[in-house]
Amino acid sequence: MALLNPNYKDLKQSYLFSQIAEKVRNFSAENPEAKIIRLGIGDVTEPLPASCREAFKLAVDEMGVASTFKGYGPEQGYAFLREAIAKNDYQSLGLEISADEIFVSDGSKCDSGNFQELFSLDTKVAIPDPVYPVYLDSNIMAGRAGKENAGHFSNITYLDSTSDNNFCPSIPSTHADLIYLCSPNNPTGATFSKAQLAEWVAYAKANNSIIMFDAAYFAFISEPDVPRSIYEIPCAREVAVEFRSFSKTAGFTGTRCAFTVVPKELYLMDTQGEKFSLHQLWMRRQSTKFNGVSYPVQKAAEAVYSEQGKLEVAALIKHYMENAKILRDLFTSKGYTCSGGVNAPYVWVKTGKDSWQFFDQILKEAQVVATPGVGFGPCGEGHIRFSSFNSRENILEAVSRLTKVL
Ligand SMILES: *Cc1c(COP(=O)(O)O)cnc(C)c1O
Repeated sequence: MALLNPNYKDLKQSYLFSQIAEKVRNFSAENPEAKIIRLGIGDVTEPLPASCREAFKLAVDEMGVASTFKGYGPEQGYAFLREAIAKNDYQSLGLEISADEIFVSDGSKCDSGNFQELFSLDTKVAIPDPVYPVYLDSNIMAGRAGKENAGHFSNITYLDSTSDNNFCPSIPSTHADLIYLCSPNNPTGATFSKAQLAEWVAYAKANNSIIMFDAAYFAFISEPDVPRSIYEIPCAREVAVEFRSFSKTAGFTGTRCAFTVVPKELYLMDTQGEKFSLHQLWMRRQSTKFNGVSYPVQKAAEAVYSEQGKLEVAALIKHYMENAKILRDLFTSKGYTCSGGVNAPYVWVKTGKDSWQFFDQILKEAQVVATPGVGFGPCGEGHIRFSSFNSRENILEAVSRLTKVL
């Protein structure tokens, strides 16, 4: 029989969201009448903006005519989209990112999961705790994490994010080569200030490390002094890759489009000290294992940057952030300590008890699903994540039920 890649045995038994799905399935089977409100999984609920749908449809029609039909597209994505991204997301804010430093993809999950492939197996990796599980799991799959003991892998530096540091991890005292940062953070909703991010950039420069900066939620930032991009920090081009996605910003979770910025100043070294361009390495990796995002989807993503698209996206964000405020107000009024919900669509609530126990309680008593904090890392224990991705009606109904049981 074929042998298993042993690294896969080190993964936690089931991915967090499958575990939640199973509990919800069991509850539904026992309570077929219950109307469950899902504030758990980080998926959007509001429809794709009209400007994106129009562009999408027109592009599908182009695919039906021989003269405008498109086969394989350019490896990094179509220039029209990369130029719109560079101009609107970076250059118009004074950040020098060029269109050829942008790699269009079908998701930040795959990009942030795949990027570690370019690094040697003995790379020292630092990962926030709690955080989006993909960074850790992809390093476990690669065999870079070491052995597990009480929820911690021996070769990973955990960047503890607790109420003591306002969920913004501080610089480790040890050396790390590859550092994942997520701001606004999933699940805590916390954001780094410019000064904090500047410390990380300085650390990376001093240690010759590379930062993987996940900005999936940048569009939800409402406070003016919070950096939306790591490239707002001087010299960040020399140390950081940035992941962004249309998923949460523009409702593309089912449509699939994202991009990764790989500045040309970034290098990895081999054991002989020879330097290799990270931009060229990522190009090589992507053109070997990925064949691009469909033309209609890239046209739909381009429409996000049209005048109408910008207004529609702003309205989507406003809707979710008003939901977040409603959730936050509920927990605050009930005396719970919470973070997030101001610069991120997640409200991170201190439960005062085991996170799965709190999960079970609100599922049973209010038929509301949230995400146990411990699923995002050991430091998430004692917390639970509420997502504001829902209709106003469902948020109000969930709040009304929770008000009665909390
Ligand atoms: C949702 C999310 C993404 C986006 O993933 P896609 O594959 O682009 O849908 C990336 N990072 C974080 C932290 C997320 O929560």
